Amino acid sequence: MTRVLVLNCGSSSLRYRLFDGSDVLTKGLIQRIGEAGGDAADHREALQRLMDTVDLTGLAAVGHRVVHGGDRFTSSTVVTDDVVATIEELVPLAPLHNPAALTGLEVARKLLPEVPQVAVFDTAFHATIPPEGVRWAIDREVAERWGIRRYGFHGTSHAYVSRETGRMLGKPVAETNVITLHLGNGSSATAVRGGRSVATSMGMSPLSGLVMGTRSGDIDPSVVFHLHREAGLPIDEIEELLTRRSGLQGLTGDNDMRTVLERRDQGDSEAALAFEIYCRRLREYVGAYLAVLGRVDAITFTAGVGENSPVVREGALGGLEALGITVDPDRNGRNELIISPDGSPITVCVVPTEEELEIAEEARRAIGSES
Ligand code: ADP
Repeated sequence: MTRVLVLNCGSSSLRYRLFDGSDVLTKGLIQRIGEAGGDAADHREALQRLMDTVDLTGLAAVGHRVVHGGDRFTSSTVVTDDVVATIEELVPLAPLHNPAALTGLEVARKLLPEVPQVAVFDTAFHATIPPEGVRWAIDREVAERWGIRRYGFHGTSHAYVSRETGRMLGKPVAETNVITLHLGNGSSATAVRGGRSVATSMGMSPLSGLVMGTRSGDIDPSVVFHLHREAGLPIDEIEELLTRRSGLQGLTGDNDMRTVLERRDQGDSEAALAFEIYCRRLREYVGAYLAVLGRVDAITFTAGVGENSPVVREGALGGLEALGITVDPDRNGRNELIISPDGSPITVCVVPTEEELEIAEEARRAIGSES
C-alpha cells in the first residue's frame, strides 16, 4: 500500500492531501468548521465528508501534522492511546495549536480504525539542537519545572528544503551546511549542519524570531511586564496583541506581504519601514547563523514570501558580497531555483516547500520502522 492521507487540522479548518507515493491524488480544505454557514458542524463531520467524497481505501497510513511535540517526541510517532495522552499533556505548551490536532487524531482513529495514524511534529526536526542553543539563561530549576526552553517549529519544512538544497548542490547531506529561511505567515530561520538542525529562531512557541504576518518575533520580555503594569493590559490581551496584532499587521494594518509591498511601491512610509524592519531581522539571523555554522554552503528561501518575493530576498541578503553572498538580480527576479551567480562561495536558493509530502514520507518511515 502506497497511499497516505495527510491531515492538517486547524481550530476551524481541515486541510487534507491524499498521496500515492509522491503523487497528489486529491487535496482540499474544509473551512469554517463549527461556524454558521461553514462547511461542517465539527471535525468529525468534516472527516466524514472527506470519507464520503474521496476514496480512502487502501491507505497505508494517515499522517497528522502536530505543532508541538515538547521534549517527549523527537521523531514521528505511530499514534497509540499513550501518544494521545502525551499530546494532551503538551497542550499548555501550545494552547493555540495542539487541541485542533488532537481533535483530528481522535476523529481519524475512530473513523479509520484499521489504518495506522502517525503524528508528525513541527518540533521534531529541532531535537538535534545542542543544549547551548536550547536553554535560556534563566533559573535552572524554574526552567526545568515548567519546560521553559527552545523547541522550534516548521521542522517538516526546514527538513525538506535543507535536504532538497543538498540534492541541488549535488553534495551528500552529511557534508552540507544550510541556512533555511521559511517565510510564510509564520516565519522562521534554521541553521542546518550536515542535515541536522543546530539553531532555530522560534522558541518555546512560534512567537519568537523573525517578523511575521501577525506575530512580533523577538522583543524584549520587559515589554510584557510594562504593558501589564503601566497599560493595565491583562495577560491574555498581551498574548493576543503579540500573536495576532503585531508583525506586519501591527506595523502597517496589513498582514499580507503582497499588500505591504504594493503600499511600499506607492510611497507609503509605514509599509516601507515595515519592510525594512522585516528584512533587517532576517539579516540579523543570517549573520548569526553564518557564525554558528562557521561554513555555509547555501542559504535557502521557502514558503509564500520566500518563494515569491525578489525584493524581500534582495532586502535580506543585498550587499553581503564580502561574506560570499551575492544575489543575481535577473535570476532573483525570475524566482529561479538558484539566484546567486555561478561560482559564488555561498549558493542562494529558492526551494518550494512541500510540508504535506514530507509528512506523508515521515508517516511511511514511522510505520516502516515499526514493522
Ligand atoms: P502559511 O504560513 O499560511 O502557509 P504561506 O507560506 O502561503 O503562508 O505565505 C503567505 C505569505 O506569502 C503572505 O504574506 C503572502 O503575502 C506572501 N506571498 C505570497 N505570494 C507573494 C508574492 N508574490 N510576493 C510577496 N509575498 C507573497
